[in-house]
Amino acid sequence: MKRQNWIALTATAVGAVGIGVMAKSFLPQRFQLDGWYDALPAPAGQSKSREGEGLPEVEVSFLRCGVTTVPECVAVRGGLFAPVDIAYSAVLVRHPKATFLYDTGLCNDISLYLANQSWLFRNTLGSFALEQSLSGHLRALGLERGIDFALLSHLHWDHVSGIPDIPGVPLRVNRVEYEAARLGMLDAFQALVRRLMCNNPLEFFDFTGPAYEGFRVSHDLFGDGSVVLVPLPGHTAGNTGMFINRSNGPRLLLLGDAAWVAANFQRPATMHPLIWNNVTSDDATARQTLIHLHHFALAHPEISLVAMHDAAAQHHCMRLPASRLAASDR
Ligand SMILES: [Zn+2]
Repeated sequence: MKRQNWIALTATAVGAVGIGVMAKSFLPQRFQLDGWYDALPAPAGQSKSREGEGLPEVEVSFLRCGVTTVPECVAVRGGLFAPVDIAYSAVLVRHPKATFLYDTGLCNDISLYLANQSWLFRNTLGSFALEQSLSGHLRALGLERGIDFALLSHLHWDHVSGIPDIPGVPLRVNRVEYEAARLGMLDAFQALVRRLMCNNPLEFFDFTGPAYEGFRVSHDLFGDGSVVLVPLPGHTAGNTGMFINRSNGPRLLLLGDAAWVAANFQRPATMHPLIWNNVTSDDATARQTLIHLHHFALAHPEISLVAMHDAAAQHHCMRLPASRLAASDR
């Protein structure tokens, strides 16, 4: 066979394989689910939090700062082409002992912070519509100086982007997450995360508490069982989930970025590999966390699991009447 024919044949074969790999990346994926949940520590000693007795009233509000829309098959492998809203949010938590944020949404000047990023970054991960900055939300709520601290689920730029709007407010970060970020994420993308975190004071926490609801370790933020942090690793080394147990509403589990949207743990399925491989620090651990959340959600239909980019779930949470939920929770 002539040399040109070999080249044409090879190019055709490579093209066919490429098309095949690309087509496969949109198909549903298989997870090994059998027997996994049985290996987890049994939930014990949390009847108090399940019933809401003795727990304080805790108000939770999702402060949506921005949004972008992607086809479902980008957010969930095996999904369709229907549009899905991806939110950029902070969560305002008002507990009797503190008013704090879980993640920080977007600051007023976020476009300036992103201005020196590459064209690719600005037109993919950094592409969104700014709706209401964190400072705009806090001003409307009369809380410009009322935030005691911000607890960061993890140290990706889109979760620390509201910090310039809360100067001087202490940042609480899982120590493992910070140590991992120091090895790369803080200084990636022209030190975007380091610049966004400004010079706000850092306060580290560790998961030194006992197993909690099937999670191997925990950290009880106020020592009253109302706000309990658990590790949800894989997306990043220290991605931190937060249970909210209260007397005035449903139990919640905020997921950071362990999932983008509910379908990620409901099916379970990762995001499209092009996104997943870009944003996930440990593929195997992140999949284990998704499987864990899959089983946890099935075992606890009374708990709302909310991912930090899941606009639909956050909207749903904000619309649920607290009294009805409090009643149905019992
Ligand atoms: Zn994120």
